Amino acid sequence: MMQQAGVFIEETDGRVKDSVLGVISYLRQKDVACCAFVISGSPGGHAEQLGAYGVHRIYAIEFQEEAQARNPQFKARAVAEAMQAAGVTILFGQTSPTGRDLLPRLAALFDAPLVMDCTEVDLEDLTVSTSAYSGKTEALYRVRGEYLFFGMRPNHHLKKPAAANPELIPFHAKHRDANGTAFIGKTDTADQGRDLNEAKVIISGGRGLKNGENFQLLFDCARELEAAVGASRVAVDEGWVPYTMQVGQTGLKVNPRLYIACGISGSVQHFAGMKTAGLIIAVNTDPKAPMVKNADYYLLGDLFEIIPKLTQKLKARAVGKKTA
Ligand SMILES: Cc1cc2nc3c(=O)[nH]c(=O)nc-3n(C[C@H](O)[C@H](O)[C@H](O)COP(=O)(O)OP(=O)(O)OC[C@H]3O[C@@H](n4cnc5c(N)ncnc54)[C@H](O)[C@@H]3O)c2cc1C
Repeated sequence: MMQQAGVFIEETDGRVKDSVLGVISYLRQKDVACCAFVISGSPGGHAEQLGAYGVHRIYAIEFQEEAQARNPQFKARAVAEAMQAAGVTILFGQTSPTGRDLLPRLAALFDAPLVMDCTEVDLEDLTVSTSAYSGKTEALYRVRGEYLFFGMRPNHHLKKPAAANPELIPFHAKHRDANGTAFIGKTDTADQGRDLNEAKVIISGGRGLKNGENFQLLFDCARELEAAVGASRVAVDEGWVPYTMQVGQTGLKVNPRLYIACGISGSVQHFAGMKTAGLIIAVNTDPKAPMVKNADYYLLGDLFEIIPKLTQKLKARAVGKKTA
């Protein structure tokens, strides 16, 4: 019998995130039937986009009030009830801020195992690969339980699966009286550009940037590269950039195709967040820096000379393309 799994859908700008589509592609490649759980104001539950990736069923979870949909405890309870209604016992999410908020709550509700930052999940023998000891080693776990939860490392770049015609099932979340947590409001942080979890290219800065203003060099280059900008913990602790940009053991775990580390020495804790990148380029003055030693390519020199030159070249190439 074909296995089935649930996928929690995260969206950005009214569309399903690419990293979520990556998880669906990953499951479809293993011939697992996918049931999507969507908490969204979008009435069609993203049926067109999810259908194009071979999702069979969509549970569109609706709340009576917006504030209830934003309450993390109510959200977890609603997804749990929708899973039970759907007969889904295995749920995949992302190792993203949303996933880190939702998945542990769900696992706690079901008293079930949860593995985060998964790179491979085998649903036949129930083994799962993830990083351990700050990314120094790969761990293989076997999980056991009536319900199972997995947070995938974002960005599985896989072939798009065959399309399906999904069944759209509206699911009305139970109204709940306010509990210990109430949603008060939402404040958007300053525009930091692209989402690091979703980015295919990331350019990051560390202590070598010297101050927050100099990060503008990276933002300028990122615009040309269509990249997101990340940072080391030093840059965050110094108050140069917000925590949402931190890559590493205590920050985001990213998985882009290309990671450019500028003025970052390459501590074990930084590598823990980016070592699975497809290609790593170091820009550093120190040939002995671990980032230089472990990069696929490196540029030995002053980032304040190298990055503006790179940006200029990319700009010139873009103009050349337009006029060609
Ligand atoms: C429990 C714990 C958790 C942690 N979590 C994280 C985490 O999530 N993420 C993280 O990043 N760190 C984390 N850290 C901190 C980590 O140990 C390092 O201190 C940190 O990563 C170093 O940041 P850095 O590479 O920017 O600075 P440094 O190690 O000081 O390196 C600066 C680099 O810049 C280079 N440089 C200087 N000037 C230039 C220039 N003009 N041009 C080019 N290169 C230049 C230098 O040669 C050097 O290699 C954690 C530490 C602990 C103990």
